[in-house]
Amino acid sequence: MPLPPIVGHSEARQRLAEAVRSGRLPQVIVISGPVGVGKQRLALWLAQLAFCERKELEPCGRCRSCHLVDGLSHADLHWFVPIPRPKVADPDKAVDEAAQAIAEVMEERRSKPLYAPPDGMASHSMASVRLLHRQASLTAVEGGRRVFILGDAERLVPQDSSQEAANAMLKLLEEPPPGSLFVLTTVDPRRLLPTIRSRAVPVRLNRLTDEQVRGFLTANAPPLPGPPLDERVAQAAGSIGVALSSGEESGKAYRAAGALLEAVMAGSAAGFERALKQAPYSARGEFTAMLDALADTLSEAARGALGQPTRRPVPEALLRRGDPAPLLRALERVAEARESAYGNVNPQILLAVLGEELAEVL
Ligand SMILES: [Zn+2]
Repeated sequence: MPLPPIVGHSEARQRLAEAVRSGRLPQVIVISGPVGVGKQRLALWLAQLAFCERKELEPCGRCRSCHLVDGLSHADLHWFVPIPRPKVADPDKAVDEAAQAIAEVMEERRSKPLYAPPDGMASHSMASVRLLHRQASLTAVEGGRRVFILGDAERLVPQDSSQEAANAMLKLLEEPPPGSLFVLTTVDPRRLLPTIRSRAVPVRLNRLTDEQVRGFLTANAPPLPGPPLDERVAQAAGSIGVALSSGEESGKAYRAAGALLEAVMAGSAAGFERALKQAPYSARGEFTAMLDALADTLSEAARGALGQPTRRPVPEALLRRGDPAPLLRALERVAEARESAYGNVNPQILLAVLGEELAEVL
């Protein structure tokens, strides 16, 4: 699958494109800006522009180089993303493990270019930076430039209470090999070593407009269960990434709520057990999100039962009822559970009780 289209940031793009055209592109760039506004997407755009066989102000999107970048398979494009810290102690083997982990992430992004933020524990460890050094010491495969993207660069972590990885990165940036371009992206440049910052030309990105976020979601994101589009756009506050991940999270809550309701309606104890096990109540936030999704699904079903159009999918069995009264009673039970959820009640027990109550009223 090709990369999703780049959205917005036209000023930054123009500035970078003119620098490429005039041969004055700096070798080290730090792109900063809010989460999910497309910092790494801009870095990929810049890589594509730098490799593109036509020298225009946008990548042509048709030449061989453009296609290779689009498929994340350009041999001179190295995209480093945070990964779990390698487990092996041997430094050479750790580099191999890091290379393997990054290759796996890239493989995933080729098939699913809209990705979620990295795991909270993932980082650029010493092994990743060693890998970067190793790759930077080679010559270009295609004979032109080489581009190194370091996403979430603030995750260059101090290891064993030293700043080994960040310092090793700094060494590379102090004397970048000829023809190489390093693009670091970060939500907050102040979280990078000042010495790294001082080597780099900053590119600051702003939030996108609601129109840009809406346009992207409409054209590129699969429809997700959860809040309606306008709500998602408003909540995202100018970030496509936030819009996508909130859709993903609330999608999970709605799927769990749907499964629970289906099991209750089917009257199957085994199905109910299964739904209970799958419900995302490992964290309290997830549990209350599930209750909210449950309430929302029931009120949508009540609308449907009254013959009004529903704004999102509702389990068939609920729609067939034709009488909104039981649905409203079920809604009350969910609201009570929502109240109890604020207290120190075990979510699993609360949900088991709620399930029985729903089975009674529905
Ligand atoms: Zn091209």
